[in-house]
Amino acid sequence: MNFKDATLPEIDAALREAHIAYLSYKNLGGKKKGEFLRTIADEIGALGNTLIQTAMRETNLPEARVISERGRTTGHCRMFAQLVEEGSWVEARIDSAQPNRTPLPRADLRKMLVPIGPVVVFGAANFPLAYSTAGGDTAAALAAGCPVIVKAHPAHAETSELVAEAIKKAISKTKMPQNIFQHFHGKSFEIGQALVKHPLTKAVGFTGSLAGGKALFDLANQRPEPIPVFAEMSSINPVYLLPESLGRNYDKTALMLASSITQGVGQFCTNPGLMIAVDDDGLKQYIKKLSEEILKTPAGTMLHQGIANNYHKRLAESLAQKGITIEAQATDAGSTMQGRPTVVSVAAKDFLKNPILAEEVFGPFSLIVKCEDVSEFNSIAVHQHGQLTSSIIGEEPEVKKHQNLLNLLKEKAGRLIINGVPTGVEVVPSQNHGGPYPATTDSRFTAVGPDSIKRFARPVSFQNFPDALLPDELKEQNPLNIWRMRDFEWTKK
Ligand code: NAP
Repeated sequence: MNFKDATLPEIDAALREAHIAYLSYKNLGGKKKGEFLRTIADEIGALGNTLIQTAMRETNLPEARVISERGRTTGHCRMFAQLVEEGSWVEARIDSAQPNRTPLPRADLRKMLVPIGPVVVFGAANFPLAYSTAGGDTAAALAAGCPVIVKAHPAHAETSELVAEAIKKAISKTKMPQNIFQHFHGKSFEIGQALVKHPLTKAVGFTGSLAGGKALFDLANQRPEPIPVFAEMSSINPVYLLPESLGRNYDKTALMLASSITQGVGQFCTNPGLMIAVDDDGLKQYIKKLSEEILKTPAGTMLHQGIANNYHKRLAESLAQKGITIEAQATDAGSTMQGRPTVVSVAAKDFLKNPILAEEVFGPFSLIVKCEDVSEFNSIAVHQHGQLTSSIIGEEPEVKKHQNLLNLLKEKAGRLIINGVPTGVEVVPSQNHGGPYPATTDSRFTAVGPDSIKRFARPVSFQNFPDALLPDELKEQNPLNIWRMRDFEWTKK
């Protein structure tokens, strides 16, 4: 189905309407916003099999994956509903007046988070539901009190349109301001760039390529009024395989990693694209088992032709680098739309000299870096770019010997994993899905879980305000019964 590209006058009108909607939406209480978010979840559910079949047709993803992604999408809408209904997310702080303080009295000072304004969200190719139209960015922004303008990903425009209609139904049913959600198509960069440049846009959420995310980030910083861009872009999620443990557990480690590398044709931002190990007998056994698993996995159809082309190009580029050996490759090369699972290796000294090998190859690919001994692990960790995750696979006594490595990795990644794979991201308060550049453009925030709401809010302090003029969240009697930090103590009093 062909959808009309947005025009520049339409984008201008949309941002103006979003701004007007913002003026009333930002003041809505958590109960009303919660009802709206729950209704979005219900309306997405009501799309039934039509949504599942459309997403499968547009993205080549299997039914079970699309169904689970729908569950995750409706799940995070309900999670944000719960968060705003409860209300403590605004981080209320109260520091009581000290009229008798000398030499100067202190005024009553109170602070809370308020919405940032209209947010532009770019749908992600690799998550047609969970990171797209009603994805984590949209749900977090709406929960915070921000109108959202979505630029649909052209690779799943029809899926996006269906979800947009569901959100619009939820707006009508719950009597929300009409233009708190708007949805545009566009096959040219001009549309996305116009949305980012518009003076009434106050923040951007993006998941996709490093080139795209960085271009939009730079554009936002060149505006007369720069705005935050929360872009999740590129991560190869290094996995450090500790040698003594690998020598004992190569079989189960290989099974675990092979499944993580090939899952979803490798099209996850958390795909383990780099494995670091000592070049010894344990590694040889590990590679043998890993190869058996990779050979068994057929080439899989990728999300869209652009992603497949990019995989083939980056794979060929990696294979052409000095010192690269193919360790395992699926027997059948597959079609031009398919990604062929491939694992290669290189010596640590060659890896450290070649920046191309540290770049993401988005697909079912992983590179093993062979070290002469474990002391080289620290050099790799120092060399590594910012990542969403870094993992260590090893038994506890051996992991304990690598405190330095753990400390180095803490500087480089948003999530540290021991004895697990990076794929699989729980949507819970303790989740951090983010990391230093180029994993994201702002390592201070998570893109997953309730704390992701904080990307679309900013703090405001109220000094010396009469109680009647304060927002309910900060009123003396705490009418919303939320948790607040009052004179350095957490209390609902
Ligand atoms: P993309 O090319 O970055 O596109 C994502 C969205 O951003 C699209 O709507 C695109 O618009 C827009 N866009 C990109 N560059 C732009 C620019 N300079 N100005 C304005 N808008 C721009 O990502 P993709 O199509 O989803 O996938 C391409 C590659 O991104 C993959 O092969 C992979 O390497 C990487 N990727 C990484 C992750 C991750 O999580 N690490 C996830 C998905 C993709 P148009 O549709 O108009 O082009």
